[in-house]
Amino acid sequence: MLTWNMSHSPISSQRPLPFAPRPFEAEVLGGWIGRIASRYRMSVPAFATACELDLQMPDGCEWLLMRKLKPQMVVRLAALTRISVERIHDIPVAPPWEGPRPYFFYCARCVFLNPLDVAAPIWRREWLDQNMSACPTHGDEFQTLRASRVLACKNLDMLLVLVSRNEHDLRYGVIPPRASRIH
Ligand SMILES: [Zn+2]
Repeated sequence: MLTWNMSHSPISSQRPLPFAPRPFEAEVLGGWIGRIASRYRMSVPAFATACELDLQMPDGCEWLLMRKLKPQMVVRLAALTRISVERIHDIPVAPPWEGPRPYFFYCARCVFLNPLDVAAPIWRREWLDQNMSACPTHGDEFQTLRASRVLACKNLDMLLVLVSRNEHDLRYGVIPPRASRIH
């Protein structure tokens, strides 16, 4: 994937980011950080390394499922993004999940329609909740993505490309629509 030439990188662990998208209320923490990394065309682990952020992920591919950050990392992220520590503390994290997670879910009608900013699709916390099977806004059953395909995405933009492909395949009958959610 395209990455910044580090000698001209706009990212420095010493300075705030030139631009950091603001988190939205329904957005999950990992999705927001995945969105910031996308802005710099970096993978989430590479972005975290460049910013000296410890995201507590031994395997960086699970960035979407990021849990609560350590207090000093919240302070660090606040300095980088110029967003308050309190606001960052308020961003919800992925809820715990029992057992294996073979699929990830999303609402096809919500995924590319962030009503607060149409240019900024977000990943919503409810899609990562084991107890949810349909969109609370639309009532539509969630669509499914194989976990291995989601975990191969390096940032939110790449995940959105995967969603677009999935929607295209569903629309043109390449894969049958799911009748119900698998646990
Ligand atoms: Zn929806």
